[in-house]
Amino acid sequence: MISDFLDLGLSNEILNAVAELGFEKPTPVQATIIPRLLVEDGDIVCLAQTGTGKTAAFGLPALEYLDVKNPATQVLVLSPTRELCRQIAQDLTGFAKYIQGIRIVSVYGGAGIQGQIKDLEKGAHVIVATPGRLLDLIKRGAADISGIKTLILDEADEMLNMGFKDELDAILEQAPGGRRSLLFSATLPDEVERIAKSYMKDPEIVTVGQRNAGSENVEHFYYMVREEDRYAAMKRIADYNPDIYAIVFCKTREQTQKVADALQRDGYDADALHGDLSQAQRDNVMGRFKRKALHMLVATDVAARGIDVNDLTHVINYNLPQEIELYTHRSGRTGRADKKGVSIAIINQREKGKIRRIEAVIKKQFTKLPVPGAREICERQLAHLIDEINNVEVRDDIYAFMPTINEMWGDMSKDDLVRKVLSYEFNRFFDYYRKAKDLNIPEKEKKGRKDKDGMKDRQDAGEKGKTKKGKDGNPGECEKGFVWMRINLGYKNKVIPRDIVSIMKACGIGKQSVGKIEIFEEYLYVALKSSVAEYAKSQIHGAIYGRRKLSAILLQKK
Ligand code: ADP
Ligand code: MG
Repeated sequence: MISDFLDLGLSNEILNAVAELGFEKPTPVQATIIPRLLVEDGDIVCLAQTGTGKTAAFGLPALEYLDVKNPATQVLVLSPTRELCRQIAQDLTGFAKYIQGIRIVSVYGGAGIQGQIKDLEKGAHVIVATPGRLLDLIKRGAADISGIKTLILDEADEMLNMGFKDELDAILEQAPGGRRSLLFSATLPDEVERIAKSYMKDPEIVTVGQRNAGSENVEHFYYMVREEDRYAAMKRIADYNPDIYAIVFCKTREQTQKVADALQRDGYDADALHGDLSQAQRDNVMGRFKRKALHMLVATDVAARGIDVNDLTHVINYNLPQEIELYTHRSGRTGRADKKGVSIAIINQREKGKIRRIEAVIKKQFTKLPVPGAREICERQLAHLIDEINNVEVRDDIYAFMPTINEMWGDMSKDDLVRKVLSYEFNRFFDYYRKAKDLNIPEKEKKGRKDKDGMKDRQDAGEKGKTKKGKDGNPGECEKGFVWMRINLGYKNKVIPRDIVSIMKACGIGKQSVGKIEIFEEYLYVALKSSVAEYAKSQIHGAIYGRRKLSAILLQKK
């Protein structure tokens, strides 16, 4: 696989723009698709997950082929939502930064059509459109697709899910025969196959990554609580993660609004995004979320569809979706562009089966986590606050006030001062959590069924499993042909051997490559087959587990 943009065959104009965007190496989709589009003919159906860099995969070659001197529309990108259209147009404009005179226009429903007509009148080498609005513009004679050379159907499965079948058919029937068609989709349902068969010329199907699988970089966790504690659990998750930047998925518009309102009332930077809002309201919410003025965006699946935010810390399933497919889409919002992602589900006792079904489809395991308690949350918040204080910039301006500060605080001991400053910020949390109950469901309530994942078991398992408790020390001998890897997770992080096996599995290391495990207070040692040890280390070192950054070192064999 080509691992350098310079080797893909792109022109300098494009390479410079790409470099400025900070793209260091092509993603697998880009490395696979771009050279084909540049040197081969033929239509392509590309199956790839969200967040894999598809826009540049089709966008860069399409821009290469474009003739700026020809005013006709040469590239047409169809996409399911307004947000996505704007995102794609914005990305393409970035890629085309050094292509003089190029015009990229996006048109979509839910916004005034007159302005879009005016935009098109000025010329559009590239149109990025939702199917409904484009058809409307074609009928009005404002858009002309008779000269297009490249037609891109982005997120084709989603366009069909959103009911654009007839519009797509109508547009595809009018598109000129000499074009090249590319279809991108995360899945290949019958309806997408039908489109490919009817309107594409013998397309080659290229699958990048595992089809239907959860994004590789995403870890999946769930918290099990009583139905009435769902919201309280959500709050605990937010409090336990002071740097949270998340999309919270709800089932319905009403619930989305309710949860967002409640979070706001409780003092969080949260807001709702759903179809009942006006476009102006949606733009406002999205703008604030992208600027990080909002830390939690509570959204329905459809509304969240076009959101392209790379550095989400979490995707939270306030409710699990009805369709498992949607879970894949949701969790694909995090762990993008090579970053690690965390997808969390809050479930009640009856929804465990759903977790198992999702696991079967995404081929990854969920880890059950205990809902953080008062003490853990307060500790995390305190550490965060101290961190922020440590990192604050001390400006010269403060020196002018030192006499006053000394006068008022001069007699106070350092300890007293620290306690007072932290309490000032922190009493609110203490007050709230003083009364906080344990949201975890006690064993006996689980209808007598033994739930091995329970928190109590989790602790017991430490004693029963092949682990060694106690202060940190050195591990014993590991199996022949294996080496020890030390990871900065220990008994105090409540890890049990099964978690380690899941972590390894998530990194692509199968059970047979994992040997003995010894867990100490602060660290654990896991024996790995020598042949995979280096790879495992590269995968695990720097990965995020829960909210902990892992560090891994391999112990030399004596
Ligand atoms: P998809 O359409 O497959 O969901 P996008 O094209 O929207 O994915 O890309 C996801 C994110 O990754 C975007 O923010 C994009 O800027 C970023 N990205 C794409 N290609 C690269 C790359 N080669 N290096 C770094 N970031 C990239
Ligand atoms: Mg995309």
